[in-house]
Amino acid sequence: MAPTKDQIRERLAAIATPGGRKLTEAGVLSEIVTTDGKVFFSLSVDAAQVKAWEPVRKQVEDAVRAMPGVTSAMVALTAERSAGKSAPPPPPQQGGARPAHGHGGGGPAGVPGVTSIIAVASGKGGVGKSTTAINLALALRDLGLKVGVLDADIYGPSMPKLLAIREKPQTVGGTRLKPISRYDIAVMSIGFLIEEETPMIWRGPMVMSALTQMLREVEWGQLDIMVVDMPPGTGDAQLTMAQQVPLAGAVIVSTPQDLALIDARRGVAMFKRVNVPILGVIENMSYFVCPHCGTRSDIFGHGGAEHEAERLNVPFLGAVPLDMTIRETSDAGLPVVATQPDGPHAKVYRDIAQKVRTALAGSAGSRAAPKIVIEA
Ligand code: ADP
Repeated sequence: MAPTKDQIRERLAAIATPGGRKLTEAGVLSEIVTTDGKVFFSLSVDAAQVKAWEPVRKQVEDAVRAMPGVTSAMVALTAERSAGKSAPPPPPQQGGARPAHGHGGGGPAGVPGVTSIIAVASGKGGVGKSTTAINLALALRDLGLKVGVLDADIYGPSMPKLLAIREKPQTVGGTRLKPISRYDIAVMSIGFLIEEETPMIWRGPMVMSALTQMLREVEWGQLDIMVVDMPPGTGDAQLTMAQQVPLAGAVIVSTPQDLALIDARRGVAMFKRVNVPILGVIENMSYFVCPHCGTRSDIFGHGGAEHEAERLNVPFLGAVPLDMTIRETSDAGLPVVATQPDGPHAKVYRDIAQKVRTALAGSAGSRAAPKIVIEA
């Protein structure tokens, strides 16, 4: 029999916070989610005290995992945003027993069995990053690659909705999680672990414990490529992720509006800063084709992203139209590449996927031999 929430809470009462208080009385516990012996919850702590909390998090997780009837436990550290304060990202972790494909020198260790990890990022929210990420992943699958998707968008995980996934992940051997399989893609989302209403804003360092778990405590199996749907923006959390995930490259999604392009530029700069190659820019909601008369309208002014990519000296990967079908399929959990594989949109995404694959091959080569810079 799996323990009830009250039994779990009772067990947690015996654990002390770093300040010596009863964990259950410190006001840090989130809603406890438990299904079939799988237990998930988070501890919401002060951003400045993450280091002190990490051993407690581990202790809590171990304690819950050891309870009879518990098959797996995942406990994440989160924090409420404290206005005006901004935690600096931790320095990149050095070394790695098994560097990921395309990673030379010190960077985070690779994920065993996963050949390349790429990030899909955007300078701001609402540009269609997640829609692009899932359709790109499906298009890469169509090229014959074994693909995984890691939804790291902590501010608004989209994969549960985009793929209509309602179940919780299963466990393997009591400690590791199995990704959920959809359309022959392995999917893991922070949304599977955290309740949608959790009223917290995740911040840099806390994000890492959850992200590390999703990367390393999930049975990804053998993957040619893992697509990481990044949180939008270029703040600390994003920078930390870009540093901590062994990325072989990044794809930036932008709309043609000038403002979004300025944000896209920041995205490019962020990945450059942490030495992750930019595989290219995708212009989303690029143009509108009238479903009635077939006339194309460049509502936001077409070509901005292409021009910007040229200026930034990064590849332009393609333009995705603003289209009702893309929106409807996306919002219904039936991504267009999977459900309308012979349609025009699937072709657009497949052309982009092909370019991503080519860019990845190129960047792997260039990264294999890191440049040595001798300062005078
Ligand atoms: P983000 O991840 O950048 O926040 P989403 O992928 O969640 O963006 O997309 C935001 C909204 O825009 C969703 O309703 C989605 O269906 C819609 N959308 C995304 N791309 C397109 C497109 N090319 N055409 C029409 N609607 C789109």
